[in-house]
Amino acid sequence: MARVAVVTGAARGLGAAITRRLHADGMAVAAIDLDEGGVAALAAELSASGPAVIGLRADVSDEASVGEAMAAVRAELGPVGVLVNNAGILRDNLLFRMTVEDWDQVMNVHLRGAFLFTRAAQADMVEAGWGRIISLSSISALGNRGQANYSAAKAGLQGLTKTLAVELGRFGITANAIAPGFVDTEMVRITAQRMGIDIDELLAQVASEVPAGRAGTPDDVAAVASFLARDDAAYVNGQVIYVAGGPRT
Ligand code: NAD
Repeated sequence: MARVAVVTGAARGLGAAITRRLHADGMAVAAIDLDEGGVAALAAELSASGPAVIGLRADVSDEASVGEAMAAVRAELGPVGVLVNNAGILRDNLLFRMTVEDWDQVMNVHLRGAFLFTRAAQADMVEAGWGRIISLSSISALGNRGQANYSAAKAGLQGLTKTLAVELGRFGITANAIAPGFVDTEMVRITAQRMGIDIDELLAQVASEVPAGRAGTPDDVAAVASFLARDDAAYVNGQVIYVAGGPRT
């Protein structure tokens, strides 16, 4: 039986790349997103060969929705071994303009979402004596102008990760965070457009500042998720791995 992975926010961007990579690694994958059509299309494409891939609509910030999604995953694919908490949103603004809704929405998707999915999935992992929990943090956890909500949520995910490592390590479960730098996805393109920033200029600026000389790609991040999900990554636990083309950018 193929190992079962759940990837949230899988319709596009990093989540879609991680879904593709874990599937290529031989896992059955549940691709979960608010965008039902997006995950259905990805599932149809990937299911043509290899283990099963299913697409499910769920809101990670909603307890009942998470419970229904997890029940569907167990019924269709079996117990969950790998969880990737990837779903995310941006609601950037300088602090004095940031609304309570901007704050709450970001906290709910990133932090509440990761808490709800992790709490639901850990039962299968404890039962099996094996599990991998991977959460998407960001270099913004170190502080970033206009992202009080997002940087707090991404730093919060690092704290969650370390606590999960402490609590669940004895059950053969690891919890680690990946903290990407600037990765060219729709999330950053839509935000740049909203802020009136030219994306090509932004990409050129990133390339000039990052030691690797370019922005990250979704596959750069998926490769690290693939490693963390492996059996032989068993002794990497409670870590934050920056995938940013350099130490600070
Ligand atoms: P993206 O916007 O392209 O994709 C995010 C996906 O999450 C979308 O498909 C969206 O529908 C889904 N989603 C949003 N809210 C949801 C909810 N409540 N329930 C279920 N699904 C929901 O974003 P991305 O750039 O691929 O980012 C993925 C993750 O990586 C996020 O957590 C993001 O914060 C993090 N990250 C991204 C970058 C970057 O530069 N792109 C850098 C660091 C960290």
